[in-house]
Amino acid sequence: MKNNFSNMVPLTEDSPKKQETVCIFGTGDFGRSLGYKMMQCGYSIVFGSRNAQTSSLIPKGAEVLSHTEAAQKSGIIIVAIQRQHYNFLAELTEVLQGKILVDVSNNLKINQYPESNAEYLALLVPGAKVVKAFNTVSAWALQSGTLDASRQINSNKTDPFNNVNGWISDSYVALGILGFFLFVLLGITSLPSVSNSVNWREFRFVQSKLGYVTLILCTAHTLVYGGKRFLNPSMYRWYLPAAYMLSLIVPCIVLVIKFVLVFPCLDRPLTQIRQGWERNSSGS
Ligand code: NAP
Repeated sequence: MKNNFSNMVPLTEDSPKKQETVCIFGTGDFGRSLGYKMMQCGYSIVFGSRNAQTSSLIPKGAEVLSHTEAAQKSGIIIVAIQRQHYNFLAELTEVLQGKILVDVSNNLKINQYPESNAEYLALLVPGAKVVKAFNTVSAWALQSGTLDASRQINSNKTDPFNNVNGWISDSYVALGILGFFLFVLLGITSLPSVSNSVNWREFRFVQSKLGYVTLILCTAHTLVYGGKRFLNPSMYRWYLPAAYMLSLIVPCIVLVIKFVLVFPCLDRPLTQIRQGWERNSSGS
């Protein structure tokens, strides 16, 4: 992007009508950039500076005068100076009487000063009307032109909160944390020093019941993670399932078999077999 201030291209296709004169105190980065942009909008700009000499950096067509002379030419004065240099404005109270002073300054730190910069400016020049503006626009954005600025604004969009996605992501995290916690518990209880200190019923409860609960939680965690992706053809690159899909095969088979075996018609004979029941020898 060519940042040549002498290239004064109007912002609109129609040549802008000449508007009023605006005074800018300070010929630094921000003052020059704002002055350039305002000139494109048809305003006449007069700079108030410690060094009342124009240079190649100053937008072509703008005047550079002393602070007093510049302030006399306009009813609006934009103070493009760092706050720590505001002191000299107290000497200009007479010429700034009744004028609109625009404070564009930002501080380096939050709560750096007891009062805001605009309040400080109003204290220094009690006869002026102080307003705050332009401090959220950077000199870079002003210089880069409307295209860059509008691109920044376009990308600043807020998506509405999606309840379904919120629940899905929360469930995914909650199931994962719970599953992991129980998994660690299972690991600890399987240590000989721990398993020796619990009785058989406690050990069976932890290893069997909690084991299945852990398996259910971890499987649900991966299923929630997959969600809609299971039905999305683009997730099957080279017609192959992703690793998390493959990791579900064994846990799902185990859980389905366990679910079938829980039915009383199968559970009862199996329990009997485990307890030592044998088929009647006369029948065989
Ligand atoms: P800068 O480049 O350092 O310019 C500050 C100007 O203040 C100088 O060029 C000088 O102008 C004048 N100045 C310096 N010391 C002075 C003194 N002792 N007495 C009187 N005038 C003095 O700073 P800047 O980046 O343009 O920033 C100016 C203000 O705009 C700051 O308050 C800043 O917080 C605000 N701002 C800047 C940006 C940004 O992107 N740069 C964005 C938002 C707001 P002369 O030599 O002509 O006197």
